[in-house]
Amino acid sequence: MREICLKCFRPLSSCFCKYTKTVDSGIKFVFLMHPKEAKRQRTGTGRMAAACLPQSEILVGIDFTKNRRLCELLSDPSYYPVLLYPGKDAWTSRREGFAQSVAGKKLLVIIIDSTWFCSKKMLRMSPNVTALPKLSFAGNYRSIFTFKHEPAEYCVSTIESCYYIIKEMQEAGIVSKDAEPEPLMDTFKRMIVWQLEKENERIESGVPGTHAIDWKYTKIKDVPSFTLSDGTQIGGRREADQGSRKVIK
Ligand SMILES: [Zn+2]
Repeated sequence: MREICLKCFRPLSSCFCKYTKTVDSGIKFVFLMHPKEAKRQRTGTGRMAAACLPQSEILVGIDFTKNRRLCELLSDPSYYPVLLYPGKDAWTSRREGFAQSVAGKKLLVIIIDSTWFCSKKMLRMSPNVTALPKLSFAGNYRSIFTFKHEPAEYCVSTIESCYYIIKEMQEAGIVSKDAEPEPLMDTFKRMIVWQLEKENERIESGVPGTHAIDWKYTKIKDVPSFTLSDGTQIGGRREADQGSRKVIK
């Protein structure tokens, strides 16, 4: 068996932790993962987000009514727990009364980091989670990239969700503006480029995919080009590059 980095859950040879940077926002994030996905989350961004966010925790389970750690957190009076979930009754950073509700407590944001199908089941089994006040974004956001093509409640990945929550809470004055959230987006951009370049290398070398469900195509993928917050350009596929590459089918 290959050695796995216990932080990002990738093989040590492709450990992503060097690209992560700490964003200490003053918000506690808790990521709920389905056990099936926790083991084989290659394109998920929850672990990336957790690696950047101190105090954040990943909890694995389906029925969270019996999850000791979650129950402990939910009964801790120093937190104001919310579930990131859309809805008319959901709080947003701008909604009247929200800042007052949080005041004096630490915001605890619970995010279901799972596919749409698995999240449904987790929520159905976890009335202690669904009973929480909901939090939604004040703004409308689209992901800069999606690895998975499936119906999603939100059009953004888990790591982008954290980014926008931090930004919105900072703007609303609910948390301090001291922490710069950009490293989260930078990490996501690096991850996209890294993932696609790796996949293209695999396709070009003719090695069959190990992740047939997510990567069933043997077509070379376009690698988007991104500008990081420090101005560095990453990704992109040059024209000359494309001509010189052979696709092995
Ligand atoms: Zn790692």
